[in-house]
Amino acid sequence: MLLLAILAGSFAAVGAAAAERKIYVVTDLEGISGVYQFAQTRETDTPLARQAREYFMGDLAAVVRGLRDGGATDVVVLDGHGNQAVIPHLMAPGAKYITGLPRPEMFPGLDSNVVGLVMFGAHAMMGTPDGVLHHTQSSRTENRYWYNGVESGELVQCAAVAGHYGVPPILVTGDEAACREAEKFFGKDCVTVAVKKGLAREAAALYPFEETRKALYQGARRAMKAISRCRPYKLDPPIRARKQHLVLDDPAHPRLVTKEGTITNVLELLRF
Ligand SMILES: [Zn+2]
Repeated sequence: MLLLAILAGSFAAVGAAAAERKIYVVTDLEGISGVYQFAQTRETDTPLARQAREYFMGDLAAVVRGLRDGGATDVVVLDGHGNQAVIPHLMAPGAKYITGLPRPEMFPGLDSNVVGLVMFGAHAMMGTPDGVLHHTQSSRTENRYWYNGVESGELVQCAAVAGHYGVPPILVTGDEAACREAEKFFGKDCVTVAVKKGLAREAAALYPFEETRKALYQGARRAMKAISRCRPYKLDPPIRARKQHLVLDDPAHPRLVTKEGTITNVLELLRF
């Protein structure tokens, strides 16, 4: 009896250990330790831009290690920054890194087999006064988006696509403003790690890398434990959508354009 119970217990333990725990990490560059100027994020081949991507890889390594040590069996990293940020020779082991544009689909490998979404290096939505490099999709044309009347940033856009597959946000990293935005939309169970505090769009109190990377590692481990408490962010179609942006065909006289409509497929959210 006892032996059977022990065996049953050990089989259950083996079963749990073998369960797939695939994590999908969508990355951005604005919410990385040490990044606070558009000169670091908008270019690709300048000393500042190259250095910012090194900062990015250092932060990312801490998160990948934390996720793996926390029990992730599979980690997929999507290079989400517009002009890409992954530096291949600095990839930490334990993840696959999807980079390069254009891609056949927006979020390759994101499906219902994923148990948690990480939004790494995130920034607050356009118009957030203390959001470092705040914007939504395009900083140059100052895009703003509303879904069912609620203004939303990239955190919501990304989480809503993952939510379509039933995948909850489990970790958001970025500045304090991005973390605040995450808590507002996803609740307190989604772990947040702030790596700096914004003072204005291109000014911040930066936290030392040694501290942020420790916090990122620990946050990633905590996020793995939080998975069962986190809920997917759902935007159920039809979604009333509004988009506002500047048209810069005549740079001296930018025109503010508003588009309104209905989104019938969440996966098309980012094409509106
Ligand atoms: Zn972004």
